[in-house]
Amino acid sequence: RNGSLLANRYESTAAASDTPDAPAEKYEYQAEVSRLMDLIVNSLYSNKEVFLRELISNASDALDKLRFLSVTDSGLLKDAVDLDIRIHTDKDDGIITIIDTGIGMTRQELIDCLGTIAQSGTAKFLKALKDSKEAGADNNLIGQFGVGFYSAFLVSDKVAVATKSPKSDKQYVWEGEANASTYTVREETDPEKLLPRGTRITLYLKRDDKGFAHPEKIQKLVKNYSQFVSFPIYTWQEKA
Ligand code: ADP
Ligand code: MG
Repeated sequence: RNGSLLANRYESTAAASDTPDAPAEKYEYQAEVSRLMDLIVNSLYSNKEVFLRELISNASDALDKLRFLSVTDSGLLKDAVDLDIRIHTDKDDGIITIIDTGIGMTRQELIDCLGTIAQSGTAKFLKALKDSKEAGADNNLIGQFGVGFYSAFLVSDKVAVATKSPKSDKQYVWEGEANASTYTVREETDPEKLLPRGTRITLYLKRDDKGFAHPEKIQKLVKNYSQFVSFPIYTWQEKA
């Protein structure tokens, strides 16, 4: 992506992140992202369940990218991990985890993709919003354009994205909270949390949205919104 558009402010004076106890480094969202997050967090948009479709669609795109690149670089598949999407739910704690074995992101890609408006649809959304004089227009517009990854904040207080790209030997974690103007990125050092490849998105659901953390609910949404995804989608229940 266009690195020259980066508007992040590097705030940490910490050492480079290749030390075992690498601290989280804090970044500011690009202004447009802040605006979008504000809108998502504060909107009365009622069709919150679109978050799952957006995150599954990103997982599917990441798997497609991996599959495409592996045609010319078979080494990408050497870890022999299946191409699939797994969704875990923990209804007691109100947590949903979406794991794909796709292309993942490097540290820089995390910052470029999840800290700036990269998506043309999102840019159009903001433009339409600006053009619209109607109060509460965001309600229709969120549904009309989709807000991609940030739709996670329709239902979450906090979102963590752990990701491992074949281009890097390290795994990184992006963390953002609703109502915050900054996010953090750190290296994942806990060996138990390392992914062979791909991305794990953890949603810490808002109190009123914990009902989404049920396998039956997830299965229903997958059936309604993501039935044409060409990779298997598995659902699990974390706790009885
Ligand atoms: P879009 O999917 O339209 O590009 P999103 O806001 O949904 O916009 O996602 C932004 C970007 O973040 C994606 O283009 C992709 O580069 C990156 N991304 C999001 N989710 C994943 C994922 N599961 N695996 C790899 N990259 C991802
Ligand atoms: Mg998307």
